[in-house]
Amino acid sequence: MQHAALLGHPVGHSVSPAMQEAAFAAMGLPWRYLAFDAPPESFSESVKALRTLRFVGANVTVPHKAAAASLVEVAEERVRRSGACNTLRFSRGTVEGMNTDIPGLIEALDDAFGASVLHGASVVVLGAGGAARGVLLACIEQRARRVRLLNRSMARAQALAADFPDAPALTTGPLDDAALAAAIAEATLVVQATSSGMGGDAEASPARWPDRLPPHLCVYDLVYTPRPTRFLREAAERGARTCDGLGMLVAQGALSLEAWAGAAAPRDVMRAAAERALALRSPSA
Ligand code: NAP
Repeated sequence: MQHAALLGHPVGHSVSPAMQEAAFAAMGLPWRYLAFDAPPESFSESVKALRTLRFVGANVTVPHKAAAASLVEVAEERVRRSGACNTLRFSRGTVEGMNTDIPGLIEALDDAFGASVLHGASVVVLGAGGAARGVLLACIEQRARRVRLLNRSMARAQALAADFPDAPALTTGPLDDAALAAAIAEATLVVQATSSGMGGDAEASPARWPDRLPPHLCVYDLVYTPRPTRFLREAAERGARTCDGLGMLVAQGALSLEAWAGAAAPRDVMRAAAERALALRSPSA
């Protein structure tokens, strides 16, 4: 019997245990996945405990991704560049840190809109928090042509942009209706990476779309509760191609499991389990 864990604060809302345990069963692994609510002050003790107890690995979620990035002994390039680690692997006495959010997003975008959709794309990113940082790194990795970063706090958008001098033609702006309308005039892809509406107010939206959208415009919303968000629903109503963030959640979890197990993870099984777990949550979830 092996164990993997989720460390977050809080973790009660997470669909990762259902998703991972469904995958373990489908893969014939006699493993269990346990979610632990770890307050920030005891995060490093929690990691030590998992290591001592010979857990195979852990997922790390809000608010611990930056703390995890700074405590791992071996960090992959994506962790060093993003300052965020969402996957720990305990092997041969070391704590290895990985970031599967970035390749998970790339995989989800390709599944939704076609292979290598970021390559050569003109991308509008909404947000400047941890998730937007990952989106920006995915754009750099996949050689997007141009990125326009819009955020409510301009100072935060500028600080994020300053961290990536190698980003392709990166510009920043405020996040409001007029800025969104102007930004999409030349965009092929919009990635919504603010937390507006997540799990709460179904009518919240970071900005309103203009009346019509070009049919080639792809819109990906990292938020997956409610499904769809108002932002995504209104983009679809105006003619864009849309997809919510559940695919990213599934892909990052599958990539974590593959790092622990060294075998392919069943994404269809994981997605079905995540959808069932979401359906069991509040009607607004
Ligand atoms: P974060 O670091 O707290 O950043 C939050 C961002 O949202 C900031 O840019 C903030 O703008 C903006 N924001 C918050 N409320 C807003 C509002 N009412 N209107 C406009 N902007 C608003 O959060 P994060 O870690 O980046 O996560 C962002 C979202 O991505 C969360 O909902 C998270 O669940 C989701 N996510 C999904 C996946 C997935 O697998 N699908 C993975 C990672 C994250 P200011 O800077 O102006 O405050």
